[in-house]
Amino acid sequence: MKTESKTQTVRLPILHGYTKEFYDWCRQQELRFQRCQKCGAWRHPPRPMCHSCHSLQWEWAPTKGKGKVYCWTTVHQALDPAFAEAVPYAAVVVELDEGPRLATWVTGILPDDLQIGMPVELWFDDVSDEVTLPKFKRVG
Ligand SMILES: [Zn+2]
Repeated sequence: MKTESKTQTVRLPILHGYTKEFYDWCRQQELRFQRCQKCGAWRHPPRPMCHSCHSLQWEWAPTKGKGKVYCWTTVHQALDPAFAEAVPYAAVVVELDEGPRLATWVTGILPDDLQIGMPVELWFDDVSDEVTLPKFKRVG
């Protein structure tokens, strides 16, 4: 699941706690989210308690990396100077087939060509020695 990144990543996540665990799975080429072991609810971003049943029992459950564009916003003016060369870009929320949603990039497509419900699939972008970002590309 490799494809060339069309967007330079200029800010990387700070790796600690549950965030580090999430990105450690990405480093291993697996997109996993927390899933409640009591009621089965998925959740993201990572946190200790289930929003549905308040259980503290959970697992890192794998996804198949297939989903669809849920929504996006096109950024034309970088509020953070680190993103100045990336504009215009789309900050996209992808809904995985299993249910969790992830704020991410959809590469290889212009923001104006995105569509709600567009099928997308996962690829992993090794942006540094420590960080691998889950990104998506259009299917087909
Ligand atoms: Zn639950």
